[in-house]
Amino acid sequence: MVLSSRFRYFRFLTFSAFAMPHSATFRVSNPYDVAIVGAGPSGAMTALHLARQAWRAVLIDRDRFPRDKVCGDGLIPDSLHVLERAGLLDRVRKAAFDVNALTVYGPSRGKVDLSGTFLTIKRFHLDHLLFSAAVENGSVPYQGRVRAVAPDGPGVRIDLHGASEPIRARTAVLATGADMGLFKTLQPPSRLHADATALRCYVRSKTPLDRLVISFDRSILPGYAWIFPLRENEFNIGCGVFRVGNVMPDVNLRDMFDVFATGFPLAKEIMEAAETVSPLRGAMLRCGLRGANPLIHERILAVGETIGTTFPFTGEGIGKAMETGELAASVLHEALQTDDFQRLRVYPEQIEDRLRPRYYGYSVAEKWLASAFISDFMIARARRSPYLRRIAADIIEEKVDPRAVFSVRGILKSMWR
Ligand SMILES: Cc1cc2nc3c(=O)[nH]c(=O)nc-3n(C[C@H](O)[C@H](O)[C@H](O)COP(=O)(O)OP(=O)(O)OC[C@H]3O[C@@H](n4cnc5c(N)ncnc54)[C@H](O)[C@@H]3O)c2cc1C
Repeated sequence: MVLSSRFRYFRFLTFSAFAMPHSATFRVSNPYDVAIVGAGPSGAMTALHLARQAWRAVLIDRDRFPRDKVCGDGLIPDSLHVLERAGLLDRVRKAAFDVNALTVYGPSRGKVDLSGTFLTIKRFHLDHLLFSAAVENGSVPYQGRVRAVAPDGPGVRIDLHGASEPIRARTAVLATGADMGLFKTLQPPSRLHADATALRCYVRSKTPLDRLVISFDRSILPGYAWIFPLRENEFNIGCGVFRVGNVMPDVNLRDMFDVFATGFPLAKEIMEAAETVSPLRGAMLRCGLRGANPLIHERILAVGETIGTTFPFTGEGIGKAMETGELAASVLHEALQTDDFQRLRVYPEQIEDRLRPRYYGYSVAEKWLASAFISDFMIARARRSPYLRRIAADIIEEKVDPRAVFSVRGILKSMWR
């Protein structure tokens, strides 16, 4: 398994410029240890960790990197922790914008200021940086749209549009984000639909802003709008709505965005003086670890938004997507080393044990704060309660379970503190 240093060097020379060979020109007969389909944060993090352990990983994406990805571009502490463990935080920070505060507005425009450590960085840059790190460490990049992933003898085959031969590997990882096209051909997920939908645009404006702004504006409920400052006077401004129970609100998000952009004072101020950098673009989100088994087949795992790693209510998902990449790489390492693929069975259990508890409070928050009355009440309470503000900051830092606030006991406790 371990690559000879000569082969590694050759591969480094071949791919150090990160050019992605296209299916038409790339020889696809090499067997790999792991084929990772999707090079967003979850796939790139899986590939990075596997390559560091000298496994032959091929990292496949339909897009040529760097590429744009619709997102709010906010990194909350869980992302920063994963990046730090991967040794990439300094590199990301250099390309990012540092933000140390978050202001949350309620439906009636009451607001509360929270402290925290955040970064904003366009996904164009973040994903390229992660992708490049995976390649620098030895993953083989490959550009092509995968049309099927299937068990094949003692391994897996990856069929690509426009390629005459499949890519073969001992195992595969699906990291295709909210696109469930490939997943459903392997195993019908119990839940195919998206949990939220959101859109954003980039604008450039001289309006100063040193914090992330989130607004549970009446025009957006059940959902929220955000204004995130980026480097070079740019802003990521967007909004999204989430599914309540089984119902996705029947709304026109573009109209909602217009109401927010012309009615919310800070958005109005920024937009009036702004130059448009990109049009509004939207995308779906899969949240709450719901509806898709992370072990699709005895040799095929799924990571990231494919298994719904994005947080309900906040829609933050980069951190947890990368965490599943870390976990998947570690169980794959064990299985590949021993050639015992039964070992992959611990992967769903690990996700349940380590990640599931992180989601519970966000699901409760999503239900409660769909009501304008409760949102306003919580913001008003938090404004008056240093205890609640500290707990909220600790929840964002993942030091405290969100149930500390989003439970009857939590609410009662906050009444007198
Ligand atoms: C509007 C919006 C705002 C958001 N804001 C934030 C935020 O501020 N902070 C945050 O943490 N999260 C945010 N999120 C969530 C975040 O974008 C996701 O959680 C994150 O992208 C998940 O990463 P991933 O690697 O699982 O999937 P993705 O990033 O979606 O990557 C999937 C990759 O798979 C590739 N792919 C798909 N199908 C195929 C195929 N058949 N063949 C080859 N390649 C394929 C795609 O090209 C893509 O590169 C936001 C999402 C939206 C929609």
